Amino acid sequence: MPQDSTYKYQVPQGDTVSHHSGKKASPAAIDTALAGIPSAAPLKNVQVQLTPEQQLSHELGNWFFGALFLILLVTLFFPRLFKRLKLLFYSRRAKAVYDDRQPDYHALLLQYLPYYRNLAADQQTRFLQRTVVFMTSKQFEYVEIAPEERMPLLISATAVQLTFGLEHYLMEHFEKIYVLHHDYHYGLNSVPFQGHVAHDGIYLSWSNFLKAYDDYHDGDNVGLHEMAHALAYVNFNVSEGRDDGFHDRFIRFSSTGRKVFDKMQDELSGGFLGSYAASRYEEFWAVCVENFFERPTSFKIQLPELYEAMCLLLNQDTLKAGVILNPIENA
Ligand SMILES: [Zn+2]
Repeated sequence: MPQDSTYKYQVPQGDTVSHHSGKKASPAAIDTALAGIPSAAPLKNVQVQLTPEQQLSHELGNWFFGALFLILLVTLFFPRLFKRLKLLFYSRRAKAVYDDRQPDYHALLLQYLPYYRNLAADQQTRFLQRTVVFMTSKQFEYVEIAPEERMPLLISATAVQLTFGLEHYLMEHFEKIYVLHHDYHYGLNSVPFQGHVAHDGIYLSWSNFLKAYDDYHDGDNVGLHEMAHALAYVNFNVSEGRDDGFHDRFIRFSSTGRKVFDKMQDELSGGFLGSYAASRYEEFWAVCVENFFERPTSFKIQLPELYEAMCLLLNQDTLKAGVILNPIENA
C-alpha cells in the first residue's frame, strides 16, 4: 500500500510547528502550517523516491527485526536448540582464547588442581576446553582485588570439575562471578562469609579459594561448595542452565541423602560430614560435594550408599579410572 511508505516522507525544513514557539501549537495552527507545505496533503498520493542508501538502510532494518523475531521464536519454542546455538557461540569465542593460551592454562591447572592432574591426557584436553568455554561465557567482577589471569581460570575449572560428568555445564543463569579478597560481610549477617550464591551471581573470596587447594584433602573447599550451591540453584530455582539428567537424578539422590541428613539431625551430630552439613539440606548437599572430591576414599568407607548416590548423580567417580561413568552426549 502506498501510504505505508509515508513515514519516510522527508519533512521540509521548518516543519517544526510544535517547537518554534516553545509551546504546543493549536490544531488550527498546525492545519495552517501544513496547508503551506505543498506535498503534505493528500498523503496517499505522495510518491516517495528512496535514495540507494535509504533503500539499503530499510532492508537492513527488516533483516535485523527478522533475525530478532527468529531468535525470539527459537528461544520460546525450541529451548534445546537455543541452548545448542548458545553453546556453539560460546565455543567459537572460546576457541581463539584456547588456541592462544592453552600451554599456560594447562600448566596452571596442573599446578593447582589435583583433579586435573589425575585425568588422562584426552580428558585433560576436554576439561581445559570446557573451562575456557565456561570462563569466556562469564563476566568476572573484581571487588577491591587486582585481577590475575589465574583467577577466572581456576574458578571456572572448579565449576567444570563439579559438572564434568554432566551434559550442560555452563550454569547460564549466572552471568557474573564476583571475586573478593578475604572474608566479607553480606547483608545483615554478623558472621563473615567466604563465599555465597545470590540471584545476581556467584561470590568467592580469593584468599579462601586458594587456601582450599593448599590442603585439598581436608573436605573443606569453598570453591566446590559454592559451585554446588550454584548448580542446585540453576536446576531448582531458575530454568536457565538446567541439566535435565542432573535434575531428574537428584530425586533419586535425595532418597538416600535425606535419610542420612535426617539421621544427622536426629543425632545432633554431623559425623563424617561435620555439623555444618546437618544445619540445612542445602548445606548437606554442598558439603557432600566437598567431601566427594577431597576425601572420596573415606567418604566411600564411611557412607557407602551416599557415595554411590553421588557418583550416579554427578555421573563421575574419581576412584575409578576414566572418572566419567556414562559417556556424555555433549563432550
Ligand atoms: Zn553453603
